[in-house]
Amino acid sequence: MHERVLKIDFTGRKFGRLTVIGREENKNSRVMWLCICDCGKNTIVDGRNLKTGTTKSCGCLSAELKTKRFRKHYGIDVRLHRIWCGMRQRCFNANSKDFKNYGGRGVTICEAWERFASFREWALNNNYKENLTIERKNVNGNYEPSNCEWITNLEQANNKRCNIFITHNGETKTLAQWAEFLGVDGTVLKRRINNGYPLEKALSNQRFYTYHQLEFNGKKQTMKEWSRELGISYVALKARITTNQWSIERALTTPVKKRTS
Ligand SMILES: [Zn+2]
Repeated sequence: MHERVLKIDFTGRKFGRLTVIGREENKNSRVMWLCICDCGKNTIVDGRNLKTGTTKSCGCLSAELKTKRFRKHYGIDVRLHRIWCGMRQRCFNANSKDFKNYGGRGVTICEAWERFASFREWALNNNYKENLTIERKNVNGNYEPSNCEWITNLEQANNKRCNIFITHNGETKTLAQWAEFLGVDGTVLKRRINNGYPLEKALSNQRFYTYHQLEFNGKKQTMKEWSRELGISYVALKARITTNQWSIERALTTPVKKRTS
């Protein structure tokens, strides 16, 4: 038996992706062969594994098959898998750019979702669609079934903007504070931003204010109406509020300077 194995010379033969280059030293009294894989990598293989077809590559083949099997099984879920990876990056990878807002603040992922399959199952049973993104209902809460839902990008942007501070013309305020400061309806401002109106423009677009009512001393009317009532030219009033960003009170109560000619 032992003799017979030694008589076999695999040199030059091909097994799967492996081409045998020559004999290596025996290992645990097994005959070992040095092979070169189609991918270019060298590997030392037990002769019996070559003969039985147990080893067909340096390892690259099984890695490829694993990926293919994954794709076949989860084919439609490439996006879902990317979302799952993103979530893990934010919570667990301290080098991730978003870590400070997630893992760094103690946000974590429930144990069940450690496995992609569980996360996938939850997603498919909870209204996941290709156009939706995952959102935590409580921003301080974890990624877990009770705290997550699938929402549109628009809704997510909206939620984020409500919580973040917006810096405009060197001043930082929340969206609600900006709306108040500018004398515009917060929900209108929010809607415009959600409709894809650039933030910068939404805060400074002059036409925007023309159609909105300014409330002062319990009275709500358009800039044009205020202009008529106060005898301040519409252009001047508009400039005070939009360009100079005065408060409504200041804009409506500061007398117009008489021009000296
Ligand atoms: Zn290989």
